[in-house]
Amino acid sequence: MNDCYPFENTPLNYSFEAMEPYIDSKTMYLHHDKHLQGYINNLNSVLKDYPKLQNYSLHQLISNPNMLPAKSRTKILNYAGGVFNHRLYFDLLANTAKQEPTGELLTAIQNPFESFENFKSEFTKSALSVFGSGYAWLVVSRDCRLNIVTTPNQNSPCSVGLYPILTIDVWEHAYYLLNYNDRAKYIENWFNIINWSAVELLYFKHKVNKR
Ligand code: MN
Repeated sequence: MNDCYPFENTPLNYSFEAMEPYIDSKTMYLHHDKHLQGYINNLNSVLKDYPKLQNYSLHQLISNPNMLPAKSRTKILNYAGGVFNHRLYFDLLANTAKQEPTGELLTAIQNPFESFENFKSEFTKSALSVFGSGYAWLVVSRDCRLNIVTTPNQNSPCSVGLYPILTIDVWEHAYYLLNYNDRAKYIENWFNIINWSAVELLYFKHKVNKR
């Protein structure tokens, strides 16, 4: 996956149909090839004028808002966030049998949330609470604790020093074709296609970086 300018829309590592019946193939196609592509085009277009920023990774672009030129800061954060957030969302989907985390990640979830079921219900509540467009996230904070946060639009928890290990896009384009306005149904479906192995890898990667 290319991680600096010029950004390219790398293909998904599964087919558009792969998440059926939980997410329909048309939604996956439009979401990846049209919505994400739009953010990539806009990001490349704004970075054209800033050669210094062209060496920055997506994570660097969204993690240090203050080093961005004031004139284009909002645009860069919106577009780079749009690419980073969507890539993470797509990377953490898998239509496989593993429906729950295990091992150390499960313990880390049980610590603040008591049980996986309770985490699921808290996460669902948060995802439903996003007013308009945005995301719900499971993040690791600086002290290595897990927490649920939400962000509006294409804002990212990385901009405030949090490390996301799971996310759901709750913009209507992520679910409207299949679920119309029923965001709760979409969230329930999404819980069947979380790639918990990939979430675990992100969690461990972060733990190692902290040492
Ligand atoms: Mn989206």
